Amino acid sequence: MASQPPSARAIVAHEPKDGKPNLAMENVVPRDLQADELLVKVVATGVCHTDLVFALYPEELGGPFPKVLGHEGWSRLRLLYTGVFLN
Ligand SMILES: [Zn+2]
Repeated sequence: MASQPPSARAIVAHEPKDGKPNLAMENVVPRDLQADELLVKVVATGVCHTDLVFALYPEELGGPFPKVLGHEGWSRLRLLYTGVFLN
């Protein structure tokens, strides 16, 4: 397994407050990779209205809180688990 990847800045959605998104810019540390996973460095991303829907609704949309937002971005491959193959 490769070394632990560095932390990164991210917009994180926590449980909504008073029916409004509860967002914060935070440092996040990726967990260790599992088989069949890879890690990419997101160079830039936006937060769109879909992210805000994920930030307002509970766990059935986008996974449990806290959630890292931003799904439309430009990235570079950083780390590849030994079992992952790229075509
Ligand atoms: Zn979007």
